[in-house]
Amino acid sequence: MKDSRSFSHKQVSIEKEFWEEILEEGISNSEELVKICKIEIDKQQIDVVSKKYPLFINPYYLSLVRRKNDAVWKQCIPNILEVEDDFGFDDPLHEDDRKFSPFPGLTHRYPDRVLMLVSNKCAMYCRFCTRKRKVGRPYMTMTREQILKGIDYIREHPEVRDVILSGGDPLLLKDDELEWILKSLREIRHIEIIRIGTRVPCTLPQRITSSLCEMLKKYHPLYINTHFNHPNEITEASRKACEMLADAGIPLGNQTVLLKGVNDNGKIMAKLMKKLLVMRVKPYYIYQADLTRGTNHFRTKVRDGMEIMGGLRGYISGMAVPHYVVDLPEGGGKVPVLPQYMQDYNKKTGEISFKNYLGESRVYIDGC
Ligand SMILES: *Cc1c(COP(=O)(O)O)cnc(C)c1O
Ligand code: SF4
Repeated sequence: MKDSRSFSHKQVSIEKEFWEEILEEGISNSEELVKICKIEIDKQQIDVVSKKYPLFINPYYLSLVRRKNDAVWKQCIPNILEVEDDFGFDDPLHEDDRKFSPFPGLTHRYPDRVLMLVSNKCAMYCRFCTRKRKVGRPYMTMTREQILKGIDYIREHPEVRDVILSGGDPLLLKDDELEWILKSLREIRHIEIIRIGTRVPCTLPQRITSSLCEMLKKYHPLYINTHFNHPNEITEASRKACEMLADAGIPLGNQTVLLKGVNDNGKIMAKLMKKLLVMRVKPYYIYQADLTRGTNHFRTKVRDGMEIMGGLRGYISGMAVPHYVVDLPEGGGKVPVLPQYMQDYNKKTGEISFKNYLGESRVYIDGC
């Protein structure tokens, strides 16, 4: 039997998809949060914080909270430290700087790739978000005109071969809105790859529908980088979402943000990376937290990140080891940070001593 949705075009547009219904039940103020949450919450503090930085959590993501102050809680529940933070910058990476951004919503920092914001909504608002200044703000709604301007820019810049759609979350656009963008980009001859940065497989896996996958696979080579920060975010639903995307031929990567009290622990990080690989998601980056105002309580020391990386390489599949990067302030770009593996170099003899993953030294003789 035919799906009733295919009978009339009108019906398709009024009928809500399941993921849209989940979003409609999202929580955006302290009253709703207190009502739904069985855990005690300081309502007044939530009000103070969410006035400055919007609150939004969908019921699926909230259901991943196991107890107060756990890794999922810290990522989604407003914390008074956000407004007490007088350190940091609204736009630490200078994404909106005219030098890198010809107009709002497009950042062209690296020679051959651009970052384009196509949505200001997310399936939930992460408390540590680098784009706290933008996400969830009505005045930052991306208009069709703005996106068209971005596409025009890309068309006029033949050196651009890689476009990264970001936001907000591009997968919060409806299928046809997203398809319009992908189609327009694919019509540009010099665009080789398109990437989508999305947290949806983690925060709203129900958004990954078979019709979305059918649409996406028409625009290959298409890559998706998703964003999981903790093993508790990996569920049957998120596994299914990643499986569907991978089955549509989309290579999946993951970008994790190193967050104090959430995942700044070698064991947790190793577990997360291994679990990602099992669901066909290749760990791509671990980001050192940016200098974003309102997120200082999440920042670890770079040394801690280096130590965590030292605990991955050699211990778990190389496939599961991402690059640890610091995105330098003022648009300095990403730089990789590695534990110090190379110890001494003897110029005369060509002897280099390396520290291996167990901390033992081995000498290698350099080429001449
Ligand atoms: C991270 C980023 C990219 C993509 O960098 P890759 O290292 O190629 O993944 C592109 N543009 C901007 C502005 C970025 O911040
Ligand atoms: S999903 Fe990404 S863009 Fe959206 S709030 Fe979270 S970190 Fe920010």
